[in-house]
Amino acid sequence: MEENTSLNFIEQFVADDLAAGKNDGRLQTRFPPEPNGYLHIGHAKAICMDFGVAERFGGICNLRFDDTNPQKEDTEYVDAILEDISWLGFKWKNIYYASDYFQQLWDFAVRLIKEGKAYIDEQTSEQIAAQKGTPTQPGTPSPYRDRPIEESLALFEKMNTGEIAEGAMVLRAKIDMANPNMHFRDPVIYRIINRPHHRTGDKWKAYPMYDFAHGQSDFFEGVTHSICTLEFVPHRPLYDYFIDELKEGKDLDDHRPRQFEFNRLNLTYTVMSKRKLLALVQEGLVDGWDDPRMPTVCGLRRRGYSPQAVRKFINMIGYTKFEALNDFAMLEAAAREDLNKRALRVSAVLNPVRLVVTNYPEGKTEELTAVNNPENPEDGTHTITFSRELWMERDDFMEDAPKKFFRMVPGKEVRLKNAYIVKCTGCTKDADGNIVEVQCEYDPESRSGLPGADRKVKGTLHWVSAQHCVEAEVRLYDRLFTVENPSADERDFRELLNPDSKQVLPRCYVEAYAAEQTATRYLQFQRIGYFTYDKSSTPERPVFNRTVGLKDSWKPNKEN
Ligand code: ATP
Ligand code: MG
Repeated sequence: MEENTSLNFIEQFVADDLAAGKNDGRLQTRFPPEPNGYLHIGHAKAICMDFGVAERFGGICNLRFDDTNPQKEDTEYVDAILEDISWLGFKWKNIYYASDYFQQLWDFAVRLIKEGKAYIDEQTSEQIAAQKGTPTQPGTPSPYRDRPIEESLALFEKMNTGEIAEGAMVLRAKIDMANPNMHFRDPVIYRIINRPHHRTGDKWKAYPMYDFAHGQSDFFEGVTHSICTLEFVPHRPLYDYFIDELKEGKDLDDHRPRQFEFNRLNLTYTVMSKRKLLALVQEGLVDGWDDPRMPTVCGLRRRGYSPQAVRKFINMIGYTKFEALNDFAMLEAAAREDLNKRALRVSAVLNPVRLVVTNYPEGKTEELTAVNNPENPEDGTHTITFSRELWMERDDFMEDAPKKFFRMVPGKEVRLKNAYIVKCTGCTKDADGNIVEVQCEYDPESRSGLPGADRKVKGTLHWVSAQHCVEAEVRLYDRLFTVENPSADERDFRELLNPDSKQVLPRCYVEAYAAEQTATRYLQFQRIGYFTYDKSSTPERPVFNRTVGLKDSWKPNKEN
């Protein structure tokens, strides 16, 4: 898998600006989440850009909570965002809040009103929308557009006292109702929200809109490169307009924030809209924000992804100026590649059937050596216990097998991983014909590691000792949605959920050592896949989540 080590187009802009001595050689970026939900892997892409470019060129990146809408924001989200950014391995220089600038923004708005560049509009949002025009047709000026400055000033004060109902009036910038860029057609810059703010409480009732807060916050903080996603391209002229107004004629051309845009991350078989993710959580369609099927950073973490795997994936897809839909399978491939180097190898039997080594003495046990990670010899070894009664995978036995089935078949030999070569001698069935036990005989000379034990057999099977294993619940996850691009589907996204996205296996057996790995994030159940210990485990009963299978065995459901 190729990783991008050359400069992407935004890093190239930054390198050029630094080389040209702009901003006195300063580089300052910010990551500006709105604390109205948990971060998802799309945000991780923005984080890798904002923090990554600062790291690469010796600049700083601040975290700024864009908390200008108290309707949906909460400190729960602030805390989760801090945790997720740290987990991804990034360090912010400072934490800022857009709400810290409410007074400055208010003063700026008052100044614009006094200069005749903003006015209070008492129309409804529907009326305002109806007057916007289209990109090819100019809009219609509001009847309030030319109201006296004093009147607007007085009403703006009232907007903030609580005596005016939400939606009864807004403050609009007076720019150009005929501008081909719709964002210039007297954008709304303040609206009333009668709801306490998670940081400023009841102090404010009038709140700035995104376009009146974001660029200004960048300016107040001294951001040099304000990096965001492509949907903000049409906002950029307005971003520059307000900064020009803010700097009041000062020649700051080398000292002003500039906006750069890259493509959003869109992933197949999932959704990235916070509104939809919130609905999934609130309606109980998933088990919380950190459900391992969620594309959230905490979901990926709980699923067993490493931060390095997430960053590897983001590096692989890169940054462009074109919208794309990235394949979920690519994220899984990045996880496999990363976990292969990281994961502790253990044995687990997910669909168990009893295996009895009939010529092995009853009551005897042996401590055998298992390599922790063949990719990393310094990870060492641990011991596993062999005995007469084992568990093996039901699928690894066939009574009448096709030629190429190199597993447990009567009369054939296989190696039990890290242990002996055994020859299958038969099986026992219950009254309904279900296989309840498989029997085999072992070759005492064939123990792994013994001189002369390198006799080759075609298959190697995993197993656990029945007396020395722990019963566990294992959860297997699949795509959350049945269609490739749920966001582009006209059906409601709830109808597109994959009913089989979570499969719970209540009775699996894991080797005792695996059950002890409560702090080891990354396990490989040999021959099966990568797994991680879940937080819902109890000391009596561990629970494991499957991160990803060893191979990409996933096939799209053609019916959809
Ligand atoms: P909202 O609809 O609530 O605004 P949002 O996804 O834009 O949702 P923000 O908290 O505003 O969420 O996003 C913070 C930053 O993350 C922004 O700079 C935004 O451009 C970036 N971002 C959001 N979604 C993606 C995505 N899918 N890919 C890349 N960057 C993203
Ligand atoms: Mg946003």
